[in-house]
Amino acid sequence: MVVRIKEKSLWARFAAYRLKSKRAAIVIGNTIYLHNTTKEEFLSNIKWVRHEVAHVLQYKNKGTIRFILSYLMESFNMGYELNRYEIEAKKKETDLHILEGVEFI
Ligand SMILES: [Zn+2]
Repeated sequence: MVVRIKEKSLWARFAAYRLKSKRAAIVIGNTIYLHNTTKEEFLSNIKWVRHEVAHVLQYKNKGTIRFILSYLMESFNMGYELNRYEIEAKKKETDLHILEGVEFI
């Protein structure tokens, strides 16, 4: 699976603002958009990488539009922390196999 990484993203900047966080990553389809962090810095944080790859897989499983709608619904109803997609991604941070076969470009 090929995962694209893009720095200096407006999407991620918006996510950082919403989450009141200094840096952020946001996934749309198979692309991870970064704000206030470099590709190298991001890739050196293995737990963070696993977390975002878990979101890429969620997109793959549900399909882009269905995932976005479902994610937004979940966030609206449960908030960010209790969003089931976030809970799953958090669990995947310690998954030793999730990055197997993943190529970052
Ligand atoms: Zn997440």
